[in-house]
Amino acid sequence: MYDLFIIGAGPGGYSAAVLAAKKGLRVGIAEKQALGGVCTNRGCIPAKAYIESINLYKRIRNASRFGIEVGQPAISLAALAKRKERIVSRLVKGIELLLKNSAVDLYPATAEIVSPHTIRVGGTTIETANLLIATGSIPRPLPFPAPKLWTSDDVFALEKAPASLIIIGGGVIGCEMAHIFSSLGAKVTVIEALDRVLASEDREASSALVKIMREVDFITGARVCAIDGAGPHRVSVEAPDGARTLEAEHILACIGRTPVLPPGVKELGPDLRENGGLKVDEYMQTTLPHVYAVGDVTGAHMFAYAASKAAEVAVDHVTGGDKRMSFENIPSIVFTDPEIASVGGAYDGCSKGTFPVAALGRARTMEVNEGFANVYADANGRLKRISIMAPHATELIAWAGLAIDLNLSVEEFLHPPYTHPTLSEILKEAAEDLLGVSVHKA
Ligand SMILES: Cc1cc2nc3c(=O)[nH]c(=O)nc-3n(C[C@H](O)[C@H](O)[C@H](O)COP(=O)(O)OP(=O)(O)OC[C@H]3O[C@@H](n4cnc5c(N)ncnc54)[C@H](O)[C@@H]3O)c2cc1C
Repeated sequence: MYDLFIIGAGPGGYSAAVLAAKKGLRVGIAEKQALGGVCTNRGCIPAKAYIESINLYKRIRNASRFGIEVGQPAISLAALAKRKERIVSRLVKGIELLLKNSAVDLYPATAEIVSPHTIRVGGTTIETANLLIATGSIPRPLPFPAPKLWTSDDVFALEKAPASLIIIGGGVIGCEMAHIFSSLGAKVTVIEALDRVLASEDREASSALVKIMREVDFITGARVCAIDGAGPHRVSVEAPDGARTLEAEHILACIGRTPVLPPGVKELGPDLRENGGLKVDEYMQTTLPHVYAVGDVTGAHMFAYAASKAAEVAVDHVTGGDKRMSFENIPSIVFTDPEIASVGGAYDGCSKGTFPVAALGRARTMEVNEGFANVYADANGRLKRISIMAPHATELIAWAGLAIDLNLSVEEFLHPPYTHPTLSEILKEAAEDLLGVSVHKA
């Protein structure tokens, strides 16, 4: 009999397991594939390992601007895949050790739900007081019949980049993939159904990215209606300027992700979201008694850090606490070059301060001059949203996220001295601009 049984050992599941064990609960966890889930094996870590190498490659190619003469560098997908394997296997071993040292029982098999308190896994029947579902998501299939296309699951095993690639979907994963493959020399076309790529980011970020990634052909407001051919593939597209057919060696579908429900749960009748995810309240409880859900399986905020934060909230509730998930203040991040990140809600009716990367001394020392920060505040001078397009924006957003989470005013945000010369000064200058006192903006 467990206090908490968890299905799925991605960032949502394994962090819940370790936390619950630290709080003295008896914990079991089932995982049918590798520990660490999509994040460690086919998502965040592999993608960022590739992007780190690619960004370094691009910097080496640009070395003469830094006063360094080097020969032509070479990069290969096979070498990137090997490096990724080394990183991932260490992290997976680390998670295994964490679970072991926390005395969490691991069941390496598919779990099936019989009732909110009874789970079947690998021939064993398990009883639990509480159940946490953290079964993640898989790439969403195209809504019409098509030949087998690549998804993000296939990319990290490739040994050679295609000469040409069509990416369907210009969201976070589609844009990161466009960055990876265009840097490797592929001719990349991104087809996006909405009127802009990265639709959840500031409009300015979308248009700046399209300008910066000039080697990529972005087609927006366009619908893919049919795909045929088994490589090269032909893609029929309805675009604002008319119908056309595009051809590429491969196609990568990045049209979102579908929650994966464990077998047996639907039969218990939980409330589901429109996209099939499990509906949860602010304590991460589903509508089934004693059944919690965290991460991608809830069909919202599909980021690893949202999954692990939700895990913390769910475990707190199981142990009688009152922590609540703040769904509005979950940052979003994109590892393009430059990186893009934002936190906070809608900015309609807010006043805005802005500052360009080009005017930052630190950015100049890095030979970077593209990007900006926007800071938005309401009529009471409280921060509502911060968005950044800059080197290391995915790091800077942590500081911005704290400010939004604490509901700070612009003045409070500006209270501490900001170190110089740093990229963080972009936040200071944008906030000062909002007050009309930015020293470095005429
Ligand atoms: C290419 C790519 C890049 C990404 N980059 C980022 C990033 O930079 N930052 C970020 O925060 N997020 C990123 N994400 C998203 C991130 O990977 C997910 O949000 C995160 O993995 C969700 O965690 P999870 O715990 O909900 O589920 P998952 O990581 O999907 O783990 C779920 C686990 O449950 C297991 N499972 C499922 N059903 C069962 C069952 N019945 N029995 C036993 N086990 C089961 C699965 O095998 C899987 O291991 C990226 C995703 C992709 C695809």
